[in-house]
Amino acid sequence: MNSKIQRRDFIKITSAAGVALLANEGDARASEPAAPSPLPVVISSANGMKATAKAMEILKAGGKPLDAVIAGVNIVEEDPSDTSVGYGGLPNEEGEVELDASVMDGLTCRCGAVGALKSIKTPSKVARLVMERTDHIFLVGEGALRFALLTGFKKEDLLTDESRKKWLEWKSKLSATDNWLSEESEGTAFGEVIKHYGTINCLAVDPNGNIAGTTTTSGLSWKIPGRVGDSPIIGAGLYVDNEIGAAGSTGRGEANIKVCGAHTVVELMRQGKTPEQACIETLERVVKTTKEKRLLGADGRPNFNLNFYAVTKKGEYGGAALYPSRFCVNTGAESKLVDSAPLFNRPPR
Ligand code: ASP
Repeated sequence: MNSKIQRRDFIKITSAAGVALLANEGDARASEPAAPSPLPVVISSANGMKATAKAMEILKAGGKPLDAVIAGVNIVEEDPSDTSVGYGGLPNEEGEVELDASVMDGLTCRCGAVGALKSIKTPSKVARLVMERTDHIFLVGEGALRFALLTGFKKEDLLTDESRKKWLEWKSKLSATDNWLSEESEGTAFGEVIKHYGTINCLAVDPNGNIAGTTTTSGLSWKIPGRVGDSPIIGAGLYVDNEIGAAGSTGRGEANIKVCGAHTVVELMRQGKTPEQACIETLERVVKTTKEKRLLGADGRPNFNLNFYAVTKKGEYGGAALYPSRFCVNTGAESKLVDSAPLFNRPPR
């Protein structure tokens, strides 16, 4: 999901989260109780309108939730116009597209992941095969590519004209004095040059309450080759527990990894929190663990966005983000975009 911050002139206010840390007027607290939803249900990041519709079609036809979410995100992975996922995703600093993905199946309690995978359009499918055909969970880099080729995937050029142009534009702005990071860095590494985040997370619950999820991404644009974000990390970018529910994340992976976000959200739901409350509480931990000056705006708040999405076994769903954002829901009819609960009601500054 492209992490564009959207302005909203309204905000849901509630005392549910009750956290003193964010006491400034107008900031959000976890809002209304989780919307009860008849099963099946599919949710995703905001770039998943087609993905959630496809996943729902599969669930309605009696398909498994894991098949449903993977088929859903494959549409986005193969779509060259989404520059944050799969084919057409923005490349690393050397102009090579490196993809991360994870899958997790509640029914079998199994999971698989790939990191820094080159040349394969659909890393979620490779992650599934890691889960199904190996005794491992996470393959990265050259090993992940070799595994993919051995299991029948074809090497393809993942760079499109558009993503190549954007990379060249970024490269043309570099100077000999740029560094990845320095004490003075503000906003992002490489000073004012903007880096792009983007990912799809998709979670599904079938009519029997069985749950699966996947998260797939090209990760942070212009990253150092080999950089792996939160998306393929089980417990950070994705977590599924068939007894409770599932959660996933998009946005600044480095911030999410530090709080093991998706696992934290599921554990909070286990304690009785609604999906939205659980997402909000996890974001509060992100705020507390973001101390680097270069990651804070003048108002002392994180200068990046981070989204969590969550669903329970019963089909209650919710989402929250540091700043106003939306996510996709499909409860059997058309996919729709709904507002995430924002922790802060205005863009970072
Ligand atoms: N979380 C992803 C990463 O850090 C990027 C994103 O979701 O925007 O790699």
